Amino acid sequence: MEKFWETTALADMNEAQWESLCDGCGWCCVHMLEDDDGNLYQTDVACDLIDTCEGHCTQYESRFDLVPECNKVSLNLPEAFPTMPESCAYRRLYYKQPIPEWHPLLTGSKDAMHDGGHSVRGRIVHEREAGDLEDHVLAWTPVRFVE
Ligand code: SF4
Repeated sequence: MEKFWETTALADMNEAQWESLCDGCGWCCVHMLEDDDGNLYQTDVACDLIDTCEGHCTQYESRFDLVPECNKVSLNLPEAFPTMPESCAYRRLYYKQPIPEWHPLLTGSKDAMHDGGHSVRGRIVHEREAGDLEDHVLAWTPVRFVE
């Protein structure tokens, strides 16, 4: 079977191909805290629309209406790629890296991703329940930037 992500550049993918790159890990729906120097720190506080068990958006089609600050992953927003999880297929392909071996496109399901601890399953709280974001920083180590 042809692996389209190995033969088609991100810029040339159709909508279905582009959407299928998302493994549904949910980490891009989890907030980061930014300090005065622009460093970003990962928290465990997620958008209220996320399914905390499965990691997907429960209002995917209307998410931009419901959450104006939500951004579509896009080549028009290249500044977002360095802050996405190192396992994210969009980020990896953007930096000419292979997608993870547990990716649903390779395994046929999300099981290996969840079982391997690569998704938000069991690791996040909704922002409506979280309180102060500073109390939810996972590590006071800035998110690693590639560039
Ligand atoms: S971080 Fe990447 S792979 Fe994970 S949910 Fe967001 S877009 Fe999809």
